[in-house]
Amino acid sequence: MSEIVFQDVTKVYPGERVALDHLTITIARGEFFSLVGPSGCGKTTALRILAGLEEPTGGRVHIGGRDVTDIEIHQRNLGIITQENLLLQHRSAGGNIGFPIEGLRRRTRIDARARVEFEAAGLGIGHLLDRKPATLSEGERRLVQLARAIISSPSVLLMDEPLAFLEAQMRARLHTAIRQIHDERGMTIVLVTASQHDAMALSDRIGVLIDGVLHQIGSPHDVYSRPATAAVARFFGEPSMNVLAADVLGSSPAEGTQLEILGQVVTMWTPLLADYVGRSVLVGVRPEDVVIGAEASRGIEAHVHATEPLGSATLTEVSTLDGPTLSCRLPGSAPPIGTVLDIGLRPERLHLFDPATELAFLHPPARR
Ligand code: ATP
Repeated sequence: MSEIVFQDVTKVYPGERVALDHLTITIARGEFFSLVGPSGCGKTTALRILAGLEEPTGGRVHIGGRDVTDIEIHQRNLGIITQENLLLQHRSAGGNIGFPIEGLRRRTRIDARARVEFEAAGLGIGHLLDRKPATLSEGERRLVQLARAIISSPSVLLMDEPLAFLEAQMRARLHTAIRQIHDERGMTIVLVTASQHDAMALSDRIGVLIDGVLHQIGSPHDVYSRPATAAVARFFGEPSMNVLAADVLGSSPAEGTQLEILGQVVTMWTPLLADYVGRSVLVGVRPEDVVIGAEASRGIEAHVHATEPLGSATLTEVSTLDGPTLSCRLPGSAPPIGTVLDIGLRPERLHLFDPATELAFLHPPARR
């Protein structure tokens, strides 16, 4: 059953800025859905429209089977963590967490203090209830915000960058807490984030938004291993895929199809390239599928211009004589800047995109 529906939602801000272009998404009850995309792609706008903080220019929004497009935020029964709904500084952490159920307490005489203590204990912040927000760490404040967002047991929880600017350990703690809330309470969660890492770690499905247009919806594994468009390929993955133009030279059943990429000729065995002979295609290659040295026989000359050691491997940016730079994930320690490498692309690991539509038409088998 669907819990949330964006139906053809468009948002045009003053100045003709199209932030969302006919966005249609259906999110199932109990699903953990993340909307990701580069800065300015319209993610926050989509969440604000869902929350009732922003009106769409066109289209409808449904929550729990009800059209809520014209309904006020407080009638939508949502838990919200946005960049605006910060904690009230003059209240204690406990006062902040209990704030949403204050009216409820008067009407139903629920034991608000017990509810606050219950939510706080669940998130491991029971000892912080009497402290003012200013005396808490950034991570502790986020946990207080989370407790406040779930205390009235909303069926839907919306979160805009709840993990931004946290160090790794606190991030991991919040990951666990958020995932636990989702799994134990069956809440539908919509997360908006620029962090693919968070989206991959937490979500059942991911929607990729680029320039206000939804390019793909799929499982984290699907979006990573089968990007639907070249734009998704250029965005998704840390670092993302290299996308390069290639000329399709010739094709025969006996000799396969030859593509020239950055001066190197590679052979691919797929009938899907036959129609592109004499034209170009876009090829995508993940940094881990760029090889060097002997494996790159008759390779592409490339100059190292930046490196980032990862421990067992090094992320290396190289520039090629033809111009494009490539990201490579090379085994071992960092090569010195300026080193000339012989690099190659594994033909069996290439993704192919149509150059006109940028739609993918071939993916390599996913890695296990
Ligand atoms: P970020 O990750 O940087 O927060 P985002 O993907 O959440 O970006 P939005 O905040 O939804 O993007 O903004 C989408 C586009 O709409 C941007 O180009 C932004 O400048 C523009 N925009 C957002 N709010 C307004 C506004 N109130 N008035 C005019 N333009 C706006």
